[in-house]
Amino acid sequence: MTTRRARCDVLIVGGGIVGLWCRALLEREGRSVILVEKRALGAGQSVASQGILHAGLKYLVSGEEDGAAASLADEYERWLDRLSGRGWPELRHTRVLAEKMVMWTTPSLASRAAGWLASPMMRSRVRRIEGDERPIAFREAPRAIGVWEVDEPAIDARSLLADVAACAQGPLLLGEPDASGIRADDDGVTVKIESAGEHVEVHARVLVLAAGLGNRELLRAVGVNPDDACQERPLHMVIARGAPAAIFGHCVQPSRKPRLTITSGQDGDQTIWYLGGALAEPPGTERSPEAQASYTLDEVRDCLPWLDVEGLEIDTLRISRAEGRTPSGRRPEGPVVHAQGRVIAVWPTKLAMAPAAAQAVLARIAPITANPGPARADEVEGLPTPSLAGAVWSWSRQT
Ligand code: FAD
Repeated sequence: MTTRRARCDVLIVGGGIVGLWCRALLEREGRSVILVEKRALGAGQSVASQGILHAGLKYLVSGEEDGAAASLADEYERWLDRLSGRGWPELRHTRVLAEKMVMWTTPSLASRAAGWLASPMMRSRVRRIEGDERPIAFREAPRAIGVWEVDEPAIDARSLLADVAACAQGPLLLGEPDASGIRADDDGVTVKIESAGEHVEVHARVLVLAAGLGNRELLRAVGVNPDDACQERPLHMVIARGAPAAIFGHCVQPSRKPRLTITSGQDGDQTIWYLGGALAEPPGTERSPEAQASYTLDEVRDCLPWLDVEGLEIDTLRISRAEGRTPSGRRPEGPVVHAQGRVIAVWPTKLAMAPAAAQAVLARIAPITANPGPARADEVEGLPTPSLAGAVWSWSRQT
């Protein structure tokens, strides 16, 4: 079988939010880029995310200092610009599912929460809402339950990925690098890729690893111990069909983690809740799917006692967050970039931090590729391209 030989400035492995954002930014800076994705665009964490463009507020509820809250707050204003068609990339077709999240408390915590949420730190971004201002799911809640509106939108991650993918023209290739076939030399990195039974050898001046959890194996292939560069935090998320009304919000408690975080979607005439927050974290990761489903129902009854949730059909999804390593194993405060010669691995930490992550990658690459090199990206023409991953509720039964 013949091997196609392609050349480009940058080969990106992984078509999640950060790989696609890097592609868009690099192409705009005049670099030739090929991106290879082994399953579908967003099929890792990006489509499985809850799509909340955090401004860092949920991390402030505990009153603890948190660097993530500061970096998210800076990025938040830029997201609003892009979503309204100003700034770049223009995210004109990205669906905003909720312009604001809500925070609410369980009845037993209602009066204490009023104190934290009215603190000077929160006051400028959080507003207590009453009566008809409340989303439909909270209209029947007892008056004693505090409901606050928070300046954080929730977006549809699939439409975001489609928008970012459309910002660049360089080839998107469905395929997977052969980890044993990655070779670095003085002027770049050569990667053997298998795509639909065909072999492609790509010579790139820089290799960007944007493969989320898949970065582990690729790092090992280039001689980096993945445990020195990245960490994995497992989650056990929950998908509930037949919800009584859409919710985009956090049920808060006096700790770093909301007790429940719910975002919503629609599948035909069914409203779907996608539930995370503390229930999806350890010890929730240790529960069987059945135990997790029953724990979730108890949590929902306790946190939303005024709603009828008896008809919910529950499914669970195990998925891990892939992040840059921190000494404590906790979430990094910003994106993490690990560079080894011409190989750059990136983990954005949050969907909301993907633009900052891509800027950090660009800053590393710019000096190496200052003068764009000869490109033969069209060698991959005709090979299959990855489609967009389906909505997360279409994956759940695979677990
Ligand atoms: P991914 O989206 O995982 O993309 C990696 C891609 O690489 C995948 O498409 C995969 O198929 C591909 N790949 C892997 N290995 C290979 C290989 N060998 N060859 C080719 N391709 C490969 N962040 C927020 O800001 N707000 C939220 O509400 C939020 N909610 C979240 C909820 C959950 C359950 C999870 C898990 C994360 C959430 N996050 C959220 C975090 C956010 O989703 C991630 O930080 C972000 O999506 C990571 O993007 P990525 O592009 O690095 O990785």
